[in-house]
Order: sequence, then structure tokens, then C-alpha cells
Amino acid sequence: MPSSNTTLHHGSVSAHDRERLLRQRGCVVWLTGLSGSGKSTIARAVESALMSRGRLPFVLDGDNLRHGLNSDLGFSDADRRENIRRTGEVAALFAEAGVIVLSALISPFRDDRERVRRAVGEERFLEVFVDTPLEVCEQRDPKGLYQRARRGEIPEFTGISSPYEAPAEPALTLRTASVGVDEAADEVVRLLETRRFLTPAMELA
Ligand code: ADP
Repeated sequence: MPSSNTTLHHGSVSAHDRERLLRQRGCVVWLTGLSGSGKSTIARAVESALMSRGRLPFVLDGDNLRHGLNSDLGFSDADRRENIRRTGEVAALFAEAGVIVLSALISPFRDDRERVRRAVGEERFLEVFVDTPLEVCEQRDPKGLYQRARRGEIPEFTGISSPYEAPAEPALTLRTASVGVDEAADEVVRLLETRRFLTPAMELA
């Protein structure tokens, strides 16, 4: 709970002012899917595609954040939930700053993702399901984690010994077993265009 001794301050610079400056509307593209499904790879490809179009993206990668902001968190249920909550709050701040956030966290539980949606705001939150079958992820195994999980070295590993709850109504589903990285990134950029995040609101009237 917030301290009763604090109040929220608002300055004279509005979200519209930042949109005008950046020529885009801040939002959160929340990539969710199994380990090895391709979230980080696609996030980085979208980041490059947006930069080359003169836009401002920023990637929040779950693994990277565990080295800093979330370095005090482990992998208990409570810590995993807190990992997602904090990342969601940071994503919400970046989006408010006008940035197009690309987040790459497994985020296996619907409740946790819905909490992020509420923190960010429905209108700015784009849930993207990186829908890669477990067999494909396990075959890729880019970090060797599946091998370790199968040996019983990683408790509660998503897809092996812990469930993954697929999004019910994602804004976009990327089936990476049949769609390449560049094509997947293109689909995300098209989604941003369709939802008018690459156009400031004042130019939409
Ligand atoms: P995650 O972030 O979901 O854990 P990564 O992006 O770290 O997954 O790893 C995905 C691996 O799958 C990478 O080695 C990537 O090169 C490979 N890969 C193969 N095909 C695709 C695809 N169509 N989309 C994304 N990644 C792919």
C-alpha cells in the first residue's frame, strides 16, 4: 500500500506532448510463451525493425532483468509473480513515457498477465502469444534448460513440471514452427500500425 504521507504529482508536460515528440504512442507488446519459443529473438527483431523506421522501442527481457531490478528474486511461486508484477510496472512507466515496450517473459499464468494488463491499461496492452509446441522448444533448447529440467535439475519448469496457461484472446498469435523470425517481427509491426501506435493520437482525428 502507498504511504499515507505521499501524494501523486503531475507536471505540465502531457502524454500528448511526448507523443508529438516521439511520433508514436507508447504501448506494451507483451510476448508470452514457453522457454525457447522465440520471445527474445522476436522482440529483438521487432526492436531493429522499429529503430530502422525511426521509432523508439525498448526490450524488457526477463533473463536480463533478473541481473538487476529483480536480482533479489528466485523461482518460488511468489517470486515469479513478483518478477512479472515489477516488470509490468516498469513496462507501464515506459509506455507512459511514450516508448514502445517489447517484453519477453514466459509469464505462464493468466492472472499475472491480467494484472499487468490492468497496470498498463487495456488500451495500450497488446498480448502476443508466441505459440511454439513444446517439442519444438525442447528441440531448440537454446539455453540447455529443457535437458536440465528433464534430468530433474530444475523444479517447476514451465511445460515440463509446471503448467503454461495460453492466452484466451491474444492480440496476435505467432506460430514460429512455421513462421520465420523476420515474418513474425513483420506481423508485430503490422499490429502496431493497425492499432495506430505508430501514429500520434493528434494526427488521427
Ligand atoms: P525465449 O525468449 O522464448 O526463451 P529465445 O528467443 O531465447 O526464446 O530462443 C528461441 C530460439 O529459437 C533461438 O535460438 C532462435 O534462433 C530459434 N528460432 C528458430 N525459429 C524461430 C522463429 N521462427 N522465431 C523465433 N525464434 C526462432
